[in-house]
Amino acid sequence: MPGTQGPRVLLRRLREAMAEVSESQARLDQVAHLIAQNMVAEVCSIYLMQPGAELELYATEGLKPSAVHKTRLKVGTGLVGDIAAHARPLNLSDAQAHPNFAYRPETGEEIYKSLMGVPILRSGRVAGVLVVQNRTMRHYSEEEVEALETIAMVLAELAAASDLIAFDDDGQDATSQQPHYLEGTALSGGLALGHAVLHEPRVHVTRLIAENVDVESERLEKAVYELRSSIDKMLTTSDLSHAGEHREVLQAYRMFANDRGWLKRMLEAVKTGLTAEAAVERVQNDTRARMMRQTDPYLRDRLHDLDDLANRLLRHLTGVALSSASGDLPEDAIIIARNMGPAELLDYDKDRLRGLVLEEGSANAHVAIVARALGIAAIGRAQGIPDRVEDGDAVIVDGDTGELYVRPSQDIVDAYSEKARFRARRQAQYKAIRHEPSVTLDGVKVALNVNAGLMVDLPHLEESGADGIGLFRTELQFMIASKLPSQREQVELYSDVMESAGDLPVVFRTLDIGGDKMLPYMQQAEEENPALGWRAIRIALDRPALLRHQVRALLSAAVGRDLRIMFPMVADVSEYERARALVDKELARLDQHGREKPRSVAVGTMLEVPALFWQMEALLPKVDFVSIGSNDLIQFLFASDRGNPRVANRYDLLSPGALNFLRQVVLICARHDVPLSLCGEMAGNPLEAMALLGLGLRTISMSPAAIGPVKMMVRSLNVADLEGFMEGLYSLPNASVRDALRDYADARGIAI
Ligand code: PEP
Ligand code: MG
Repeated sequence: MPGTQGPRVLLRRLREAMAEVSESQARLDQVAHLIAQNMVAEVCSIYLMQPGAELELYATEGLKPSAVHKTRLKVGTGLVGDIAAHARPLNLSDAQAHPNFAYRPETGEEIYKSLMGVPILRSGRVAGVLVVQNRTMRHYSEEEVEALETIAMVLAELAAASDLIAFDDDGQDATSQQPHYLEGTALSGGLALGHAVLHEPRVHVTRLIAENVDVESERLEKAVYELRSSIDKMLTTSDLSHAGEHREVLQAYRMFANDRGWLKRMLEAVKTGLTAEAAVERVQNDTRARMMRQTDPYLRDRLHDLDDLANRLLRHLTGVALSSASGDLPEDAIIIARNMGPAELLDYDKDRLRGLVLEEGSANAHVAIVARALGIAAIGRAQGIPDRVEDGDAVIVDGDTGELYVRPSQDIVDAYSEKARFRARRQAQYKAIRHEPSVTLDGVKVALNVNAGLMVDLPHLEESGADGIGLFRTELQFMIASKLPSQREQVELYSDVMESAGDLPVVFRTLDIGGDKMLPYMQQAEEENPALGWRAIRIALDRPALLRHQVRALLSAAVGRDLRIMFPMVADVSEYERARALVDKELARLDQHGREKPRSVAVGTMLEVPALFWQMEALLPKVDFVSIGSNDLIQFLFASDRGNPRVANRYDLLSPGALNFLRQVVLICARHDVPLSLCGEMAGNPLEAMALLGLGLRTISMSPAAIGPVKMMVRSLNVADLEGFMEGLYSLPNASVRDALRDYADARGIAI
């Protein structure tokens, strides 16, 4: 009877047999024969998954040979189907008494009483079922079940290597060559046709059977030790790539990696005759099967962590690199990852990057901001994607719609190539008007600025032909750093920004952190409503040292130049006054010490909190400029979370309510002669931008890629006529006037 010695001997025999026989059917027959012999069973049968979620009898020792390739069972029918449906073993001394027993006369199995069957798992999915049967009412021991599971794993590799398994779409095998289509969320616009690069290369274990168990145990222990130290190192290192949301994941990794049960189970698997790599897979297969049965979403989510951890351990064992960033990239790389930090994306050669696909990730995630800065198409929430793509697969990413095609058919490739050519022609047109003025047909100048925040953004100012930087989000530097940037580091960045902007204006917004923009090195309490919580100017006023350092850095970087400082999330005049007082105090300090100063300092505020609107009369005499942050303003105006896909698009910006509000802001600022701009995402969409001009705005700021399309719109617009048309919209009862505006533009050939 096979104890722990059992599978060892059997595995060795299997290896010898596989080396001798090369044809796949003959191999399976041989395997079935060896298992039956070794486990002292009269029957051993191998069922493999086929299209339509059917299990086909592929090889048998003991059942009628004529049933091979004839007997088929749906997942869920019969005992074999039951094992597959639940991905767990069955151990029955009286199989026919089981309610799911289904009699198949062609197999001649009625004479066998006991049955032990285990799922054949590959990448956590059921690829088949392995069964042994005996005539007597035999009780198979726990050890025998485990031995059969180990053998099933070797069998899974054998079957996959011979292309014998076929999964359906919803349980598609990672190695399947079928096309795959998926809709995620759009994170960064653009179209990318290219080839997949798995950010964390998957390790395929091919050497499964140990030659020397002691050597394998040692290899495993050493790799686990290395894994643990590498995670500790990542947690303490100043390496930028592990900032932000990754920290939490790493802490979970550390907990799992130090779990003694995990190592013990893997060592036990090695003792059964597996290589260290195979033992890692074996244990991970079990864990995965167990976790897949969990209904608790939190526990199911942890499965990702465990999968990643097992994969990391495999990389320690095999020496496969941790990230693809250092390897050879194709010319048109599309990076596929579960998630990543912003600096990890910056590790790649940006000349070869075309697209990014994340299984997680949302539009406000830092990595999405970096993808937009790099100008690459990006998609988030692409469910299950790392398991469905292989390195080198052809991939199409539509960053405008969130659509993704893996291994697309030729007609999809043709359609998208045409779309890409069309885009390229459009880009050429935008480039051609780069140095043309942004003036309407009726001669009104519209300032088009860019939003920026990182070094990678700076070349865009020149490339886009924008009039300046309307919003420099200073928090991005803080968000991608692993520790608080020093004053010197801040001075360096701000100087570089002003240097590259030359004579063009730059509006520096002070730190807008908190809420969803967490700093990895700053402790912050959990908040129920982070968007309404302790963020931006609220933190700055409660912790003035942070703001003071930043203001000092800005003043020092701007010596001899014009400096513009703007405060985020101001809700009432007193907040603005207190923040401005801090700037004035720093200026006075420079005077006192006879230090050099900027040529001029303008201080303004964002209008993002509706309450501030009702204090405009008191506010405007005190500010040098105002910029509307429409992203936050609209979420507060409609009480609709900008980050929640279920409500984010529920209310239209182009509704009489929102447009009226903005119109009133324009009128009151004009009355006080205070310069007004708008720097939310709204400004980057030509139709929305047109509406903004129609209600009176003349300065708008957007992502660099939007400058071209918006300038085309400006240059094809008669703004006085539009203003007249929009007068008729403000009092409509409609939820949206989008169609009316679009019809207006279409009728007049305005490029929207
Ligand atoms: C806004 O709220 O519109 C804005 C520009 O600020 P952010 O998107 O950085 O919150
Ligand atoms: Mg904002």
